[in-house]
Amino acid sequence: MEDEISSAGVTPIVRTLLHYGLQPTLLIGSVWLVVAQGDAEAAYPIAFVGLIVLLCGLEAWIPARCEWRQSAREFLTNLGIVMLFAAIAGMVVFAYRADLGPALDAYRARHGLDVWPRHWPLAVQIPLAFFLSEFGWYWLHRAEHRFKWVWRATGHGAHHSFQHLGAIHFGANHPFEMGVLLLPMALVELLLGAGPAATGGSVLLLANTGIAHANLDLNTRGIGWVLTTNRYHQHHHSRVLEESNSNYGCAVILWDRLFGTFSDAPTLATGIGNTEPSLIGKALLPFREPPDAAVAPS
Ligand SMILES: [Zn+2]
Repeated sequence: MEDEISSAGVTPIVRTLLHYGLQPTLLIGSVWLVVAQGDAEAAYPIAFVGLIVLLCGLEAWIPARCEWRQSAREFLTNLGIVMLFAAIAGMVVFAYRADLGPALDAYRARHGLDVWPRHWPLAVQIPLAFFLSEFGWYWLHRAEHRFKWVWRATGHGAHHSFQHLGAIHFGANHPFEMGVLLLPMALVELLLGAGPAATGGSVLLLANTGIAHANLDLNTRGIGWVLTTNRYHQHHHSRVLEESNSNYGCAVILWDRLFGTFSDAPTLATGIGNTEPSLIGKALLPFREPPDAAVAPS
């Protein structure tokens, strides 16, 4: 019996179940959570905390790459960045909903633009919002990697700077990037009138982007035709410029496959250069890049 237990105390059957089952279970579970709660706003913080605890716990237990294990200090710093970013994002979303929501609702009604299929089951509307939002994000993200001024203005280098990539980095972005990160789903919500489906789509985005950054041994076959797996997203975080200029979909890889930016290859190391900037260095990346920065657009 002991022979069947690996060094981390995990039986092969558990590893296999996690390898194939974790991503689909979390995605289906995210949609179920929103539908079961009947209130997408309430589901979001539950999913946020639950995903961090589960994915980071699994990474500490059975990481795919031991060399990417984060020290307690590193993890707590990352957690602090993510919590701060989430708190500011929550306030921004509240503000734009309050300021723009009623006016846009009235505009759509007046001009017959209320096209969102609200009569469809919520479990179908949520993936629809998810795929539409990711279509917008694909192009914004591609622009960040194509134009130096967009890369700098959004501080996207900060998100790429981590060398011990893990699930917690799903939300570790420069505050300057808040606008472009929130914009795609805001357009789905406010211009198309998706309402609660947009928040539900954000829960689904949260789940897949967490998985896409996770330092876990996960399957790519099958699911990787449409959705971004961690193998594909780690490649986007590569320190090699040509590798980094691929796989722009953080949750939906289908857009990369359709628009010719898909790449499937192993990733040696992540980051923006041979050294990882300090926290202050990350904050200053929009203004000053380290001399060894390799993945910034020229
Ligand atoms: Zn990127």
